[in-house]
Amino acid sequence: MTHRHNFSPGPGILPASVIAQIRHDLPDYADTGISILEMSHRTPVFEALIEEAEANLRELLAIPRGYRVLFLQGGASLQFGMVPYNFLPADGVADYLAGGTWGKKAVEDARRCGRVAVRFDGAAVGYRRLPKWSELELTPGAAYLHATSNETIEGVEIHDDPPALGLPIICDASSDFLARPLDVSRYAMLYAGAQKNAGAAGVTLAILSEELLARALPDRLALMSYAVHAQSRSLYNTPPCFSVYVVTLVTRWLKDTVGGLAAMQVVNRRKAQALYETLDASSFYRAHADVDSRSVMNVTFRLPSAELEQRFAAESEAAGFIGLRGHRAFGGLRASLYNALPESSVTALVEFMREFERRA
Ligand SMILES: *Cc1c(COP(=O)(O)O)cnc(C)c1O
Repeated sequence: MTHRHNFSPGPGILPASVIAQIRHDLPDYADTGISILEMSHRTPVFEALIEEAEANLRELLAIPRGYRVLFLQGGASLQFGMVPYNFLPADGVADYLAGGTWGKKAVEDARRCGRVAVRFDGAAVGYRRLPKWSELELTPGAAYLHATSNETIEGVEIHDDPPALGLPIICDASSDFLARPLDVSRYAMLYAGAQKNAGAAGVTLAILSEELLARALPDRLALMSYAVHAQSRSLYNTPPCFSVYVVTLVTRWLKDTVGGLAAMQVVNRRKAQALYETLDASSFYRAHADVDSRSVMNVTFRLPSAELEQRFAAESEAAGFIGLRGHRAFGGLRASLYNALPESSVTALVEFMREFERRA
């Protein structure tokens, strides 16, 4: 098999050492004689795993006191409904940023629950940028502001944490979660599907302030209620045990091997910079996003024609590059540079791009 470079947008690449650990652990977890796949979630062994995952997240993100960490299911997509279902009162309104595909999906579900005011629409700017926090005009008295920090499909990102805006800020951070340090205290809630940067598909991480939790609407369906999950410490029903275990391993890797999120951010910026420099140095390739909004995680770019883009996608695949074809609804090319992607894969891609340009 040729060497693969995994630029998959999600589920994305995992650290090789994590895959090796899974392989080692799978038949017999920690001398229990059974696999983690066969183990009750009500055992001390599993409880230690989920507790470590939470402790690692708390350490990596310096999560302040007064915040809960929840392990949920249904993907980030279920949060699009759960957030308004819990926090948008019947007589209220919620502000939303619809900067790209995921933000727009969040808006669609919120509209099914109540009144929504879209405060930024990416369609107006060709999905080339996301707003600065300071340019937003918000609805006085809005229940919350929902933002997507990194629009995975279009490759645009808000790079800084919000200032105090006078309302709770809820952020879908699925595709840049754990890629850089962030100031949790600026948010009422952050959530992320694990399969981009934090682990395997099946678990969604949510960090919520107790202040926000106290505002949750009463009498929600149990599995759709943050209060229920918080009370039962994410063990109301069977959690996605295996996916939680992978989060434990990935956060352990981030702490012990990478050395934390500031160190991770340095590497991530270097990877993105190498790619954007290649795009900027060429008149053949064109970066999609405006410079200020360029995503560090998902680098989107175009070639001179759709036909060349097709050829690039096919030939890069044949050369061992996985996942460079842009999202089916958006087109173009996209290189996802998640935490676990080695810098050598970016170097190899840059070489492939230069060589493709010479031949085209
Ligand atoms: C991938 C992604 C989602 C959807 O995640 P699922 O776990 O598939 O529901 C939502 N938001 C963002 C920003 C994403 O990158």
